[in-house]
Amino acid sequence: MSIVRYPKIFSKQVVALTTDRKCDFFFSESTPRLSSKQKKFFIQNQIKGINNFYNIQQIHGKRVIFANKKNFDKQKRIPKADALVTNDRGVALAVRTADCIPLFLFDPKNKAIGVIHGGWKSIKKEIIAATIKTMCYQYKTKAKDLKIAFGPSIRACCFEVEKKFLKNFPDQALGKSGKYYIDLVSIVKKQLKRLGVQQKNIFDSKMCTCCDHRFFSYRRGDVLSGRIASVMMLV
Ligand SMILES: [Zn+2]
Repeated sequence: MSIVRYPKIFSKQVVALTTDRKCDFFFSESTPRLSSKQKKFFIQNQIKGINNFYNIQQIHGKRVIFANKKNFDKQKRIPKADALVTNDRGVALAVRTADCIPLFLFDPKNKAIGVIHGGWKSIKKEIIAATIKTMCYQYKTKAKDLKIAFGPSIRACCFEVEKKFLKNFPDQALGKSGKYYIDLVSIVKKQLKRLGVQQKNIFDSKMCTCCDHRFFSYRRGDVLSGRIASVMMLV
């Protein structure tokens, strides 16, 4: 496995995948374009048409960016944001993670997509609501039609926190043998339900980046070694 795919939930009109640690997709502002090694990784995994990503500088906020074709072809600056949306074909949206939740959104009726870098800070700031709202305004998306996938991320098995962290998500703490754990995926699922997303339209990869050594994990100590990329594109 070099790629996690999400074929069950999305149609053939959408490319959606997450890479593993066989290729590092760490982003630096000085190298905003995909390297030849990264491009080769997609070719080797038979993913066609990805020559570049629409890049953002992820800052754990709640800003959503319109990634249109014109900007994609000649991206001059790297905006600070944690979510991207588009309805243009051939624009590869991407977030880079090493424990945060990569979220994929697809509106099959209006042919629009979005990706979210779902770290706990952004989730607390309601970046998911902000992204869905943006798609509603821009593409007439209805939450009940959205199909959503969760990529590999740190799960409750490994997301141990200190007691003082619990105030961020008071309802969600799991205690076992004097330790505290946070289930971020279930927090997101509750937010999605509240926003009107149907449970049957949600797909969870159920993969934990921290226990599963095929992925990079900040918590496991890979902070300097790399990021996995979650990529989505309308074809
Ligand atoms: Zn785990």
